[in-house]
Amino acid sequence: MSDCAICGRRSEKDDLCAYHISALENVKIAFDEWRKALEIDWNTYLTRLLDEENIGKWAREVVEYLMQQDGS
Ligand SMILES: [Zn+2]
Repeated sequence: MSDCAICGRRSEKDDLCAYHISALENVKIAFDEWRKALEIDWNTYLTRLLDEENIGKWAREVVEYLMQQDGS
């Protein structure tokens, strides 16, 4: 039992709550699509996502979280 690393909601087993896990899955799936078309790497993809207006609240928070993890 732990709390979501992003929003602090109670999480059953993971570092993220169900909402943010779902958003993370969507971000990963979308990356596969982008990569086919654009040949971009993961970090470039995340940066581009943050520029998207309609990315959605959950996905945006996940992207920001991932970029923080990466920057260490
Ligand atoms: Zn969360």
